[in-house]
Amino acid sequence: MDLHSGMPFWMALNPLYNYYHPLKKNISTHTVIVGSGITGALVAHVLCTLGIKCIVIDKRTIGTGSTAASTSQLQYEIDIPLVELIRKIGEENAVKAYKCCLQSITDVENVFKSIKKDPDFESIPTYLLASNKSGEKLLKEEFEARKKANLPVQYLDKDQLKESLGIDAFSALYNDTSAQLDCYKGATFILDHHLKKNEIELYSHTLISDYNKTKNGYELITENGNKINCENVVIAAGYEAGEFLPQKVMDLLSTFAIVSHPVDKKYLWKNRALIWETQTPYLYMRTTADNRMMVGGEDEEYNNADRRDAALNKKAKTLEKKFKKMFPDIPFVTDMSWAGTFSATADGLPFIGTYPYRPNMYFALGYGGNGITFSMIAAQIIGNLITGKKDDRTDLFGFNRLKHSD
Ligand SMILES: Cc1cc2nc3c(=O)[nH]c(=O)nc-3n(C[C@H](O)[C@H](O)[C@H](O)COP(=O)(O)OP(=O)(O)OC[C@H]3O[C@@H](n4cnc5c(N)ncnc54)[C@H](O)[C@@H]3O)c2cc1C
Repeated sequence: MDLHSGMPFWMALNPLYNYYHPLKKNISTHTVIVGSGITGALVAHVLCTLGIKCIVIDKRTIGTGSTAASTSQLQYEIDIPLVELIRKIGEENAVKAYKCCLQSITDVENVFKSIKKDPDFESIPTYLLASNKSGEKLLKEEFEARKKANLPVQYLDKDQLKESLGIDAFSALYNDTSAQLDCYKGATFILDHHLKKNEIELYSHTLISDYNKTKNGYELITENGNKINCENVVIAAGYEAGEFLPQKVMDLLSTFAIVSHPVDKKYLWKNRALIWETQTPYLYMRTTADNRMMVGGEDEEYNNADRRDAALNKKAKTLEKKFKKMFPDIPFVTDMSWAGTFSATADGLPFIGTYPYRPNMYFALGYGGNGITFSMIAAQIIGNLITGKKDDRTDLFGFNRLKHSD
């Protein structure tokens, strides 16, 4: 699958993790992780801290799947507002999902503290703007639901928002518990750290094209016919994980992003906050460590790489125009633009854990706008499951919420 196109900023900014190491023999190991993006890296980190030796395999250059195209914002708010999620899955589960995401932001930060590497992680606030009257109504309800759930949130009316952020919108929800990072840098930092400590083996440019269930686990077969025997396999294959699943669990979409030239930081908005809005298709924005502005959105409900790529220039212009409408005084000049595959599940939640009748194959599928916070949760749940510990998040994020056809 063509996961992204154009020039994702992190790929231009960072040196390539220049590691060409395809698997050329048969091997055995305890646990194989398929995928070297932020999800595979976080799973590897958790397993290493639990003392489990693992192998990470990727068909691409390390970290260059969707992780390289991500705008890398960490928020506790899921694509589906809490009020709507409550209607879909009940109050207890919906609140729990939101709280798991809140905790996950701190957990991601702690991963990087523990390896003493900083992927430009920055704790910052979020403004969720009401784009229109119905957005304002939604935010009022959302505020009450989040307040009841003890989630960090403030309601800003039009005047308070103007005073706080200097922009005109109907109202906003504000919290100061969000973060941003460079998740490509993050994934490669984590993998490099554990590789250098001999805690993982890392194989790039190695496609897992088939697998068989064995008595004690799995036999994975590479495109070149090499075999890997393992007790456990973790599928951290991002939007391409469908080939390991008997059932479709998400819809694939297309999304677009642009990044500006760096500007003098006097032009940036207050606290370099994350900003997004209630409107569909939504617009969202963040800043970067070198004072650029990154703007994304304009999602389309297709996943056709040719169609997506043909749309890129027009979408980039639309994103820039919308940004300038919100912040007419900021000198925004688009430097790079890119498009990527994205996905959405019916309830906005990820799929984590084993598929029924497939023991020892653990899925870490952090689909949706909170992909990275979901990846952290997946890494912890899978670490617990592999070591035989109970995790009270398994039902909430597991496959049992689907009808199975295996
Ligand atoms: C434009 C854009 C903006 C986004 N913004 C945000 C955001 O602000 N916040 C957020 O949390 N999330 C965001 N996301 C989503 C987030 O980027 C993803 O959830 C995350 O990067 C997925 O990481 P991953 O490791 O699961 O997948 P990937 O990075 O795609 O890694 C999976 C890897 O598996 C490998 N693989 C697949 N199949 C096989 C196979 N058979 N054999 C060997 N290797 C295989 C692939 O080569 C790939 O490298 C955004 C995504 C996009 C595209």
